[in-house]
Amino acid sequence: MATRVFLSEDEMPRQWYNIAADLPSPLQPPLGPDGNPVTPEMLAPIFPMSLIEQEVSQERWIDIPEEVLSILAKWRPSPLHRAYSLEKFLGTPARIYYKNESVSPAGSHKPNTAVAQAYYNKQAGVKRLTTETGAGQWGSALAFASAQFGLECKVFMVRISFDQKPYRKLMMQTWGADCVPSPSTETQAGRDVLAKYPDTPGSLGIAISEAVEAAVTDPRGETKYSLGSVLNHVMLHQTVIGLETRKQLEKFGEKLPDIVIGCAGGGSNFAGLAFPFAHEKINGADIEIIPVEPSSCPTLTRGPFAYDLGDFSGMTPLLPMHTLGHNFVAPPIHAGGLRYHGMAPLVSQAVVEGLLNPRSIHQLECYEAAMTFARTEGIIVAPETSHAVAGAIQEATRAREEGKEKVIVFNLSGHGLVDLKGYEAYMNGELHDYEFPQEELDENLKALEGFPRAETVKSGRW
Ligand SMILES: *Cc1c(COP(=O)(O)O)cnc(C)c1O
Repeated sequence: MATRVFLSEDEMPRQWYNIAADLPSPLQPPLGPDGNPVTPEMLAPIFPMSLIEQEVSQERWIDIPEEVLSILAKWRPSPLHRAYSLEKFLGTPARIYYKNESVSPAGSHKPNTAVAQAYYNKQAGVKRLTTETGAGQWGSALAFASAQFGLECKVFMVRISFDQKPYRKLMMQTWGADCVPSPSTETQAGRDVLAKYPDTPGSLGIAISEAVEAAVTDPRGETKYSLGSVLNHVMLHQTVIGLETRKQLEKFGEKLPDIVIGCAGGGSNFAGLAFPFAHEKINGADIEIIPVEPSSCPTLTRGPFAYDLGDFSGMTPLLPMHTLGHNFVAPPIHAGGLRYHGMAPLVSQAVVEGLLNPRSIHQLECYEAAMTFARTEGIIVAPETSHAVAGAIQEATRAREEGKEKVIVFNLSGHGLVDLKGYEAYMNGELHDYEFPQEELDENLKALEGFPRAETVKSGRW
C-alpha cells in the first residue's frame, strides 16, 4: 500500500482548468468607480494583456507555456500522501490524503502562479513587479519567480508580519527582492494611513493600495503589479494542484473523493485543489467541498456577498465577493495569510451557487490539529494550512462517529518552518480564540452603502 504517489514530469498537467467556463451562473464583472464594468484596457496599466485575457476568459482549458512548465518542474508534480499515521491516531475508517504543496522553493503553493505571472510580465517587456504580502509567503514566492526571469521585485509587507516574521523578508532579499513594511512612507496611500493611524499593524488592503500605486506611478512605465490570490487568473494557475491530485488519487485506487478541503484566505490554494473537483460536481459527482477560514476573519461564513473594493483606499475595482468590508483590520492572529477582508469572486460565486460548504474554525483548534499532524505525519504545517488540517480532522472524526469510509483529501498549502513563533505562542498558552464582533462587522459594512449591489444569482441545483 503506497504512502505517497508521485507523477512523472511528463504527467504534469499541460493545461489549466478555468471554472468560469462551467459555473452554472455567470460571474458578475468588476466595476469601476462610476459603477460601469471595468474594461480590459482599464486594467492594462496594472497587468500585462495576456493575464487580463486569462482574467476574462471563458475557455475551459488554457495551455500552460513550456517555459512555465520547465520552471514548475523544479518541484512539480508535488506528491500526494496518504495520512496513515493520522488515520490511526484518530481511529477513523476515513482514508485521508493530502497534497503536499510545501515542497516548492518558497514552501507553499504560491509559486504556481508567481512563476506564470512573472513569465507573462517578462514576455510583455515589464522590468519590475510590485506586490503586497501578508505573512510573506506571496512576497517570497514572487521574489523567487522574479529571479527566475530576471525581473526586479518590490514587496510591501504588512507591518505586523514584517515584525513577527523576519525570515521571509530575508528569503525575499536572498532572491533579490526589495521588501518594506506597509504602511510605508514611499507611497501617498501609505503616508495617508500613517498620518491617521501611526501605530497601525497594517493590513493586506493597505499594502495592496501601496503596491498598485507604486506600479501605476512608475515614471518609466516599466512596472506592473502582481496579485497572489483573489483574481480569476490566479485561481486558474493554481488548478495544477487539483488536476495532479485527481490522477494521483486514481493511482491510489480511489475514484473521486467524498470530501475536499482547503484553507481559504483569498481562495487560491483552496480553488487550486477544489475547482477540478467542483468540475466533477457540476457534472453530477457527489462531493462535499469545504473552504475553511479563521473564525476571527469569517469572510465566507459571515460576510455578505457584495460589491466591495479589493483594497483599503480604492485603487482596485469593485469586486463581487464575500467581504468583511475593505476597511477591515484583522486581529493579529498568527495565520497571517488568512486575514484578507475579501475572497476570490470565483470562490464566492461558487458559494452563492451552493457548490461549496464554507466553515470557520477557531485558532486554538487549528493549532491543536497542527500539533497532532506534526506528531503523526511529521510535517509542521503553516498556520494557514492548520485550518485545512483541522477541517480534515473534524471530517475524519465525523466519519468515525458515523462509521463511514469517507475519502477525504485536503491541501497542505505550505510548511510552517518559518512560522514557528506561532507554534511557540501556542505552546506557551499565549494564544486565544477571537470571535469577530458583529458590531464591528456592521460598522465596517457601512462603508459599502453607496456601492452597486451584487446579485445572488444561482441555479438552485445544490
Ligand atoms: C497565502 C497562503 C494561504 C492563503 O492564501 P489563499 O489564496 O487562500 O490560498 C494559505 N496557505 C499558505 C501556506 C499560504 O502561503
